[in-house]
Amino acid sequence: MTLKLGVIGTGAIGQEHIRRCNNVLQGAKVVAVSDINVEGAKAALQRLNIEAEVFADGHDVIKSPNVDAILVTSWDPTHEDFTLAAVAAGKYVFCEKPLAMSAEGCRRVVDAEIKHGKRLVQVGFMRPYDAGYRALKKVITDGDIGEPLMLHCAHRNPTVPESYDTPAAITNTLIHELDVLRWLTNDDYKTVQVVFPRVTSKSHAKLKDPQIVLFETQKGVRIDVEIFVNCVYGYDIQCEVVGELGIARLPEPSAVQTRKAAQLATPILTDWKDRFIGAYDVELQAFINDVKADVLTGPSAWDGFAASVAADACLKAQVSGAIEAIEMPPRPAFYDKK
Ligand code: NAP
Repeated sequence: MTLKLGVIGTGAIGQEHIRRCNNVLQGAKVVAVSDINVEGAKAALQRLNIEAEVFADGHDVIKSPNVDAILVTSWDPTHEDFTLAAVAAGKYVFCEKPLAMSAEGCRRVVDAEIKHGKRLVQVGFMRPYDAGYRALKKVITDGDIGEPLMLHCAHRNPTVPESYDTPAAITNTLIHELDVLRWLTNDDYKTVQVVFPRVTSKSHAKLKDPQIVLFETQKGVRIDVEIFVNCVYGYDIQCEVVGELGIARLPEPSAVQTRKAAQLATPILTDWKDRFIGAYDVELQAFINDVKADVLTGPSAWDGFAASVAADACLKAQVSGAIEAIEMPPRPAFYDKK
């Protein structure tokens, strides 16, 4: 049986997901879409050469009897509302990050899902599906480098638009590290501090760039994450885990090395879509397979909530300059891995 998907939001990642669901992955097909810009949605489908019903309102996609499961790829502030509506309709929903604009919003989704009685929500944290991060996690869980003591990480983008401000470095960018580092270390955050180095001249008035975010985890691991979103040179994700017995590093994306004109050179990617293209494919194929098997196993609403609790503390730390506590309530048994 082909799973019939409805996609809400046909911007950059919406179009990418529509393309991969219809042209790359197995077992699903996008049959309906919506976007606040209906003409834009129609034009996107035409460009992708895909036929699907176009709705002006995402809620009509959720209500459509022709749609089995939902992908929410619209603007951040709409995520909570569409995800709650999908849960109320009893439909599986893949929601791009962030699950909601605050921890309270994420908690509302968690509560609604628990009340429904079965997991319906997967959050679009794709890094746990990246081959490099998976290999890094295996090295850690196999005990090859002993217990992790420190992590040194960086999230660098060539440039960001003027609409991206200082808090967006947390809610839009660091949110990926907030999820993947919890998953990688099987640990939760305890405290956070944000420090601001000298601001790059490539930034704009509303953005302090770069930033360094310093965490202590419940197990006492220290993590530093550099966020530098006007780094100019490329889209570069780094993660180094220092353990008791050795050091493990996230592998670089494979690329041809050249020796030419007295230089040894390896290209660096510039676009997030290319850096994680394989991870997005694996992530959405897993969602499709899980929905068909009637049991979700990917990043949960609780993971979305946990990242958001940490994000809220980071936002507070950006303003206070102090070390802020990250208060994570105990995970409900509902989210214990089966
Ligand atoms: P985008 O290009 O701006 O696309 C968002 C789309 O949603 C736009 O077409 C927007 O229309 C539309 N939209 C806004 N409000 C809507 C509503 N009420 N109903 C339906 N559509 C609505 O942004 P994007 O880069 O694709 O990002 C979309 C989401 O995916 C964001 O939440 C982002 O955080 C997330 N994302 C995740 C990753 C990842 O790595 N997992 C990567 C990129 C993005 P207008 O343009 O007319 O406002």
